[in-house]
Amino acid sequence: MGVATLLNLEDLNVHYGAIWALKGVNLTVGEGEIVSLIGANGAGKSTTLRAISGVVKASSGGISFQGEDITKVPAHDIVKKGIAQVPEGRRVFANLSVLENLELGAYIRRDTRGIKRDLDDVLDRFPRLKERIGQVAGTLSGGEQQMLAIGRALMTRPKLMLLDEPSMGLAPLLVKEIFSIIREINEEGTTILLVEQNARMALQVASRAYVLETGRIVLDGLAKELAMNEDVKKAYLGG
Ligand code: ATP
Repeated sequence: MGVATLLNLEDLNVHYGAIWALKGVNLTVGEGEIVSLIGANGAGKSTTLRAISGVVKASSGGISFQGEDITKVPAHDIVKKGIAQVPEGRRVFANLSVLENLELGAYIRRDTRGIKRDLDDVLDRFPRLKERIGQVAGTLSGGEQQMLAIGRALMTRPKLMLLDEPSMGLAPLLVKEIFSIIREINEEGTTILLVEQNARMALQVASRAYVLETGRIVLDGLAKELAMNEDVKKAYLGG
């Protein structure tokens, strides 16, 4: 493929007590790619992202980012390395305003001018957030909260963005809008690892994809080839 590897998961195992959630996961994301991870409920998709962002610990195996072993790096330092997670269910700070949420995204940064410029960029990208800049985040619609969660992640200036189910609970038109935003963010230089139950959209937007079943990667390849794979069609694309 010729692109440099940005993220590499090697034989990654994660346990929650007695539950073996990830069973030897191998996965790579190249610089500039959009890679999708699809799979049914409970397959371990969120766990994969949580392991990368340092929220859950690997029981064995390794995670490297830009060639550096980050397996044991704590979550707050992962952000500083350039990995931002947009968690499932958005998790915006409901009692804070749109502006305060975005400013919190930049808490690790000290470059006041850069922060201001990125804030302007985020508000230009999301006119709905601009219109609602002083509104308390808990009163935003689901789609607006998703935009805010993505905007907040952008405020960390990530090299790699981890997106967990960005289309969850959104109406079809908004799903389209969110996916076109994901594509734009990628075109502007951010690499993306996307977890989705909406396999159809996930395979459309990605260059490559992985299929996770009960903690194991069972298939991977070019997204357009997986979209034509009979097993994938049957299991994830409604026949
Ligand atoms: P979904 O799409 O439903 O979010 P998922 O593919 O993201 O599913 P995970 O949330 O990663 O799946 O869960 C993988 C497995 O780990 C499941 O069996 C789940 O019950 C278990 N699990 C997840 N979080 C915990 C936890 N905090 N404690 C115990 N078990 C957990």
